[in-house]
Amino acid sequence: MTARTALLIVDVQNDFTEGGALGVDGGAAVARGITALLHDRGDAYDLVIASRDWHDPDNDNDGHFAQGAPDFVTNWPVHCVADTDGAAYHPALETTAITHHVKKGQGAHGYSAFEGVTDDGERLADLLAGVQRLDVAGIATDHCVRASGLDAVAVVDQVRILSDLVAGVGEETSHAALEELTARGAVIV
Ligand SMILES: [Zn+2]
Repeated sequence: MTARTALLIVDVQNDFTEGGALGVDGGAAVARGITALLHDRGDAYDLVIASRDWHDPDNDNDGHFAQGAPDFVTNWPVHCVADTDGAAYHPALETTAITHHVKKGQGAHGYSAFEGVTDDGERLADLLAGVQRLDVAGIATDHCVRASGLDAVAVVDQVRILSDLVAGVGEETSHAALEELTARGAVIV
């Protein structure tokens, strides 16, 4: 049996790309790059799973939305509220190849895609049962990609971070996140 492989696309959403509530420089380029990857080599993946930050509109999501000035470490400006344009996938991300859509952060911080579920209630770790290699791309390197990658190495044998297809908030924190992921067994490619 050939190894089962999957691609995890983390939070390529309008609020995390240029012009969004928590816009990351390079976010739109990540969206375009993932679309190109899916176009060129999408057949290599048995599963293509995308996560979306999907916060409740009527509460602070367990302190995730700042009351007052955000510290950008443990709390944040309002972003990715469920069913708003900010929570939608970036328009440059081609979504037809995505086999599973996972939503996270409903009433919670939800940094890791592994906290998320599909609309059918499937958890990411269950979707990845039998997957030997997981490629991870998306936004932001130093937050949700980091948290998702750290959870991934506990579940999947080979985790690869596609370094050309991630974008981070801070240069230093993104570098530190990749080093931490490497130390935990992920491979940066
Ligand atoms: Zn969030």
